[in-house]
Amino acid sequence: MRKKIIVGNWKMHKTVKEAEAFAKAFYPFALEVSKKDVIVGVAPAYLSLDVVKKNATNMLVVAQNCHYEPKGAFTSDISIPMLQELNIDGSLIGHSERRKYQHESNWDCNKKLHALFTNKMLPIYCVGETLDEYEAGKSKDVVEQQLKEGLDGIGGRYVKQLVIAYEPVWSIGTGKNASKEIAQDMCKFIRELIGKLYNQDVASEVLIQYGGSVKPENVKEYLACPDIDGVLVGGASLEVEGFKELINNALD
Ligand code: PEP
Repeated sequence: MRKKIIVGNWKMHKTVKEAEAFAKAFYPFALEVSKKDVIVGVAPAYLSLDVVKKNATNMLVVAQNCHYEPKGAFTSDISIPMLQELNIDGSLIGHSERRKYQHESNWDCNKKLHALFTNKMLPIYCVGETLDEYEAGKSKDVVEQQLKEGLDGIGGRYVKQLVIAYEPVWSIGTGKNASKEIAQDMCKFIRELIGKLYNQDVASEVLIQYGGSVKPENVKEYLACPDIDGVLVGGASLEVEGFKELINNALD
């Protein structure tokens, strides 16, 4: 049976002190929930990774990005060994905001995914189409290319441990969440594609999240879908009580 995985992406929110206060207040709840075979985590900004991990040691804490090289002349970047020194569990890769503002390509993501797996870190690989692509009926073509290029050269034994976040760009931060039918259809498509690229064994183990304007009011409908194993949550993960409510509703 696949586990459920609910992760909050804090983006460029929360100072270190704010992140610390969140971690301290949220940690007891995260511990309780982890007994239910659910992985709960957050992706804080780099500066807050340490304080969140120290105050929530058993909670999943991932970065929002990382570099594929272990060190070098890459001003402002953060390496995987730097994350490992802080006991960080992994990293989001290819979030649509990085694809849009930092022009990150599938091939950049591919190098980072290789590097994370080599270092036994958990990648959450974000894929999803833009509004124009959605309206042109190209959602599946776009996601297929993101997966084929992003996972190029990565073996099935690694992909079994991958988390894929399907996040239609038109639903991120817009309040226009994809219907559960669209989300399920795309997540099923992703699982079937993994089956074709690898095998059924890998397809049945890979965890697939939906992300895009998930709120306490709509989370349950996604978790009820057979190919959706969890959610990646932006805005609704920023307040302790709201994130708790979302998780409680998801598991209800
Ligand atoms: C995200 O940033 O990955 C996201 C899904 O944001 P929101 O929940 O705010 O749409």
